[in-house]
Amino acid sequence: MEKVFVSPSRYVQGKDVFKKADQYVKKLGDLALVVADETVWKAAAEAFSAQLKKGGIEVVKEVFQGECSINEINRLTESGKAKKVNVVIGLGGGKTLDTVKAVADHLDTPVVCAPTVASADAPTAGLSVIYTDDGAFESYLFYDKNPELVIVDTRIIAESPHRMLVSGISDALATWIEARAVAEGHNNTMSGKQPTLAGKAIAETCEKVLFDYALPAIEANQKKIVTPALEAIVEANTLLSGLGFEDGGLGAAHAIHNGFTALTGDIHHLTHGEKVAYGALTQLVLENKPFDELERYIGFYLKLGLPTSLKEIHLEKATDEELYKVGEKATAPGETIHQMPFAITADDVVQAIKGVDAYVKDYKSRHGWSVESKKELLAMD
Ligand SMILES: [Zn+2]
Repeated sequence: MEKVFVSPSRYVQGKDVFKKADQYVKKLGDLALVVADETVWKAAAEAFSAQLKKGGIEVVKEVFQGECSINEINRLTESGKAKKVNVVIGLGGGKTLDTVKAVADHLDTPVVCAPTVASADAPTAGLSVIYTDDGAFESYLFYDKNPELVIVDTRIIAESPHRMLVSGISDALATWIEARAVAEGHNNTMSGKQPTLAGKAIAETCEKVLFDYALPAIEANQKKIVTPALEAIVEANTLLSGLGFEDGGLGAAHAIHNGFTALTGDIHHLTHGEKVAYGALTQLVLENKPFDELERYIGFYLKLGLPTSLKEIHLEKATDEELYKVGEKATAPGETIHQMPFAITADDVVQAIKGVDAYVKDYKSRHGWSVESKKELLAMD
């Protein structure tokens, strides 16, 4: 039985660390391909690149087109090859970072992930999630190594949209329940090996930090201030969740998220984390854990304002046929749902998706829950 633990070589987090970017990057290369989307170029990547230039690092600018697809990866790889870059840097959200990891793999250079939102697990992971040009989940791409550097400026995160931080919290909330399920079944992590005690401990700590600090961190984000609670949640969303999923393993929650991408329509407007929220609740229903735990999670998702009903994921009018598409994609061969401790069919997934909606309705009526009560707990913007 082989255990494996992987991680980025260096993780740096703090207020204004982007102002020291050159010091960290120059150890890795002196001709950088810097990739960010149009918005992120204006908000952060221009200043980041200026800092690199101050430190004597040349910059090749590229604008990310929005999807982590094979076409986009090939386009950026060609650009990097033509300019002979020796380090690849991505600034932005999960899709940008997943793309630069693939580009660096093709170019055989170090890669730097500089997330400007704390919304997903991409920055630390040694893998990318590949989508079609239309945004449907296609496959996971695995690399020989994790990023050489992850650099997170919490002042930039504090100014990022509230919805992205909450999405990251949701993505991170799935980490422990998925890692726990993988461990219970003696199944494998993302590297195809057994989880280490370290991987499990990180995933479990991730959950604790989220329940302790998510609400004050959201408040800080809304006021655009950096507090210790915000720092804790940025670390939970990025480092603990990133290592927790890669070294602890994924289960049903992310497979069901991938299942949702089989559908067209408004569900596409949900973020990764919002779809994962419903996937995580669906996994909890499938696991049939003691009712207290399901209630604890439902209550927390409601306070966070995450989607917990079919209506909120735009599936209230979905036909059984459509839901079976989700179930079939979620249980496709190779999906992480097969790392769960028990077998799950497409039909089981469909029943549990409907189960979440029913349980949440019941929870709301027993707890007198309304939109107003949510607003009292958490001033939404
Ligand atoms: Zn995720």
